[in-house]
Amino acid sequence: MKLISVAIDGPSAAGKSTIAKIVATKLSLTYIDTGAMYRAFTWYVLEKNIDPNNEVDCTSVIPNVHIHLNKDGKVFCNKIDVTKEIRGLEVTKHVSAVSSYRAIRLALVELQREMAKKDSVIMDGRDIGTYVLPSADVKIFLVASVETRAIRRYKENIEKGIECDLEFIKKDIERRDKFDSSRSFAPLKQAEDAILLDTSDLNIEQVVERVIAIIEKKVK
Ligand code: C5P
Repeated sequence: MKLISVAIDGPSAAGKSTIAKIVATKLSLTYIDTGAMYRAFTWYVLEKNIDPNNEVDCTSVIPNVHIHLNKDGKVFCNKIDVTKEIRGLEVTKHVSAVSSYRAIRLALVELQREMAKKDSVIMDGRDIGTYVLPSADVKIFLVASVETRAIRRYKENIEKGIECDLEFIKKDIERRDKFDSSRSFAPLKQAEDAILLDTSDLNIEQVVERVIAIIEKKVK
């Protein structure tokens, strides 16, 4: 059977992972959260007391970092379960800097492409449609207003028991949007052949419905 790949890109907290997870279950696709991979790398950097703003030091540990995503959505770094830790404030604060380093991106992109060769995937990130899987069968670019995204992320964190502040989340989303779209290598950008979906006024079910309709139309 031919493997299919679906790329879901967009700015921080646009609902990519929530939607991709549900769609993955409904359409029997493997969900790959590439943001979690950059977060796991950042977790390792901080754990080893490496300065996240020092590109040379961060990239020097690439051979020591082994990231694995399992089928239940758990994230492992060198066999340590870091699923919860990677959502914390410190990792969130530094992940955009660490993920802007070319060598780190190349290492993780290689892993992401390997995963897409083994299974039919729905992969979410910033550069999936433009760089990681430029020939993806379906490309969707999810956007929503900063306010909507901040409120969604706040509620999500509270539900997961992660301490947070709405104003801080809003500022952090704006900061990461700017950083991610202005980096020189594989920045956050809508692919020319991606379908834009603004989810500001849609609930989860409505977005899932639209995404599935787009996929089914493209992969007939
Ligand atoms: O998706 P999430 O918000 O968890 O991603 C965390 C960070 O990882 C983003 O702000 C971005 O800096 C980086 N990232 C990236 N490329 C991806 C996925 C995430 O640069 N494909």
